[in-house]
Amino acid sequence: MSATIKYLLDEEQMPRSWYNIQADLPEPLPPTLHPGTGEPIGPADLEPLFPMALIEQEVSTERYIDIPEPVRDIYRSWRPSPLYRARGLEARLDTPARIYYKYEGVSPAGSHKVNTSVPQAFYSKEAGIKRIATETGAGQWGSAMAYAGALFDLVIKVYMVKVSFNQKPYRRAMMETFGAECVASPSMDTEAGRAILAETPDTTGSLGIAISEAVEDAVGRDDTKYALGSVLNHVLLHQTIIGMESELQMEMADDYPDIIIGCTGGGSNFAGIAFPFIGKQLGGGSKVEVLAIEPRACPTLTRGEYAYDFGDTAHLTPLVKMHTLGSTFVPLGFHAGGLRYHGMAPLVSHLQELGLMKSRAYDQLECFEAAVLFARTEGIIPAPEASHAIKGGIDEALRCKQEGTSRSILINLSGHGHFDMQAYTDYFGGKLKDGIYDEKELAMALSGLPSVG
Ligand SMILES: *Cc1c(COP(=O)(O)O)cnc(C)c1O
Repeated sequence: MSATIKYLLDEEQMPRSWYNIQADLPEPLPPTLHPGTGEPIGPADLEPLFPMALIEQEVSTERYIDIPEPVRDIYRSWRPSPLYRARGLEARLDTPARIYYKYEGVSPAGSHKVNTSVPQAFYSKEAGIKRIATETGAGQWGSAMAYAGALFDLVIKVYMVKVSFNQKPYRRAMMETFGAECVASPSMDTEAGRAILAETPDTTGSLGIAISEAVEDAVGRDDTKYALGSVLNHVLLHQTIIGMESELQMEMADDYPDIIIGCTGGGSNFAGIAFPFIGKQLGGGSKVEVLAIEPRACPTLTRGEYAYDFGDTAHLTPLVKMHTLGSTFVPLGFHAGGLRYHGMAPLVSHLQELGLMKSRAYDQLECFEAAVLFARTEGIIPAPEASHAIKGGIDEALRCKQEGTSRSILINLSGHGHFDMQAYTDYFGGKLKDGIYDEKELAMALSGLPSVG
């Protein structure tokens, strides 16, 4: 076992710290800018939105950040999450590749998102905050935040993208069971929501719109802060426990990944599995091929521009440099709701610019086909988001077969699809289509990017 890993483990073999890739970047992240002045923002500018402990993590360049003991106590109820060798899938593909998957679906909300909702709730509670406003796409983040709110006795209000609110009623039921309030976004509860409904009453909603509503809610109340389930540096930081555990588990299997694959919505589960390995590489360790998979209907990393943009539709957030399709881009209502975001985590975007990772886009039908093959060989039904990573892993394994190379592939299985069975039913019924976005709408959304000096 490597010395660093041993030093970082507690008595139950769970990492004590998160890994902060900002300590090892060959070039620092471009600064976050104030939307009014165009100047870099300071911690005080973020105070209406987040507790100070999270703001400090957002800008920290410490390599390892301690996981607070109360958070580790909660993590222990499902962590370390299992890492499996996909022997059934390997046999079916008849590939010489060794396929491993890290399964985050064992968490209380069924995805990796609890890795960050718990610390976010913890730091909020410590700061005396009573209420959290947030948004959710497919409902996984809302469920994760609702669960964490229940543990720390916080009131949780969730703005849920309308298309998913209608597609996934049981996600809403789950949030309510954990004690959260959930409304369809755009809603009549905020100015941003009312303005969008007045203009486009039958909009399917988008994460950009829902973020505007949650931010407006949080800024408008003293007792409330905002929480985001992806994109931000501190969220990616909390997810690195996935990769740190994977490294240890692969070591137990006497292996090390050659290829690491994750799906990307805002980039957090991908960063979680990949950043600790990229960090090792930056420190002189083995080189890894890192691959982000996104939907072709919302191709942020493969078709977006690397530019300063807003995180939301109503332009309430600071400006961050990222791959973006433009903040007014509204993707089609495809089933991987968690991947329908116009932007990308600045850290993930930066790494792609630095050539430390690559990205690829797939259509939804080929991802469902991969998910069904996975379910029939491995016994786990993947979330539609995670099916993108699986499709990527299968294609890489087939490439190994073609080339006759035995390589080791590590896939992050970010969540289960037990609340997404309608999507599977629609797939089997031939009702799902490969919707592509309108090039003109994309061009228009991109032409609206803010100009930054
Ligand atoms: C939210 C979600 C995603 C996408 O979000 P990232 O921040 O890119 O990880 C992917 N998979 C699952 C299961 C999710 O819930």
